[in-house]
Amino acid sequence: MQEVLIEAVQLDTAAVLLGDKRITQLAAQAEATNRVLQGRTVWNVNSTAQGGGVAEMLEVLLAYARGGGVDTRWLVIHGVPEFFAVTKRLHNWLHGVPGDGGELGSAERRVYERTLGDNEADLAARVRPGDVVILHDPQTTGLIRPMKRAGAVVIWRCHVGADDRDNPFVVGAWNFLAPYLEDADAFIFSRATYPPSWLDDGRVHIIPPSIDPFSAKNQELAPGAVQSILARIGLLPDTAATAAPEFMHRDGLPGTVTDVADIVAEGGRLDPSAPVVVQVSRWDRLKDMFGVMCGFAEHVGGDAGANLVLAGPEAKGVADDPEALAVYGECLEGWRQLAPDQRRRVRLVRLPMGDVEANAAMVNALQRHAAVVVQKSLVEGFGLTVAEAMWKTRPVVASAVGGINDQIVDGESGRLLPDPTDLQAFGAIVNGLLRDPRERSRLGREARQRVLDLFMGDRHLIQYGQLLDELLVPAAPPAPSAVRPAGP
Ligand code: UDP
Repeated sequence: MQEVLIEAVQLDTAAVLLGDKRITQLAAQAEATNRVLQGRTVWNVNSTAQGGGVAEMLEVLLAYARGGGVDTRWLVIHGVPEFFAVTKRLHNWLHGVPGDGGELGSAERRVYERTLGDNEADLAARVRPGDVVILHDPQTTGLIRPMKRAGAVVIWRCHVGADDRDNPFVVGAWNFLAPYLEDADAFIFSRATYPPSWLDDGRVHIIPPSIDPFSAKNQELAPGAVQSILARIGLLPDTAATAAPEFMHRDGLPGTVTDVADIVAEGGRLDPSAPVVVQVSRWDRLKDMFGVMCGFAEHVGGDAGANLVLAGPEAKGVADDPEALAVYGECLEGWRQLAPDQRRRVRLVRLPMGDVEANAAMVNALQRHAAVVVQKSLVEGFGLTVAEAMWKTRPVVASAVGGINDQIVDGESGRLLPDPTDLQAFGAIVNGLLRDPRERSRLGREARQRVLDLFMGDRHLIQYGQLLDELLVPAAPPAPSAVRPAGP
């Protein structure tokens, strides 16, 4: 297993944005949680240190938890390609789609258990009885029982899910996972519709994700820095670089974007004044980068002079995502088949992942430069990219699927696309926004406020703290009045 080191970030760093009242509540929760933890370690285990929403959130939340005095640590399991093929299938099935079309039978179960068995001893050697272990996503479900055996309090957090519980793939995925779930002390889901109906309600907790406004991904960037970062990665011309391509690391030290992105484009770099439509996501079919490209090419008017940028991690950037290369390949092939005038308006960008914070700054700059941000996912557990763009006052056009519905109020804080496969409707909404700067500003302002109110880390950490309080403090004996009087 690989341990990801976490620097502590002090809770009051966020006071300027969240206000003293929210910070005081957070500090009080941290104090209460530290009392019940009594020095226990809170372990987080997932399957990748970078790329994707889970890694993104762990990096931030654990830094603040450490700043609040909690001894929390992050471990990444080691897996072989066959294991990640099985867990990717599980991921797809939990979203209600067949993925690579393979089975989840006894052969897959053997592959799954073998890899987790290989990780088990390493994890058990680190965890002390009484520690808390938070296991993330289906890649780690098989570790619930061994961790209970090691004497830990075990929470399993599932970041994915589909609203349609009766979908046969969803049912199949839960049948695969069911034997591993029994012993967990608590389950966390992002939405109330995601847990299977047979899961013990009493152990289910709903905690939506959050973003960190100070991370390299979301911190303020001056327009000069935005343009310079985009020039540095090769998207805008060098003449657009009027400042240093800099951002701030979590420790307050300046960082510089130095790497160049892998960009597929025709006709040179982007005109800095041309409006850009951006989708940032992993190269995953469910994010439908291909559909975004077709919808934009066919239905977003070239007269608006807008360009599309589809940006995702470089190949091999996300260890647990074996389909990425194929999905990117499909987009590339689709791009080649576009008519020449359409091709000139579409760019495929693979962002270097060598320096995670520099990568985050690139995403930050791309989202800030966008006239419209889109997230046309076919399904979505939550969709952090939506909150990230909303925080940057961008008007977001996103599919009305899964957790995106919790983020955007249609027409108020963004625009929802009722049917993600309706490319004409997608194009019409994007076109409308490209032609209406006032509406873009209005939606963007509301979007930022909504994220500030609902999707910041303080709410998230407080919910985690409350859950730990509940799990670690022994339940009080029932009050006398609640006790059934002794019968005759
Ligand atoms: N992301 C990134 N670099 C990339 C592509 C994505 O940092 O090249 C980030 C993105 O900004 C977001 C996360 O990966 O923070 C994706 O989370 P989301 O919930 O949107 O989707 P997931 O990948 O978890 O399905």
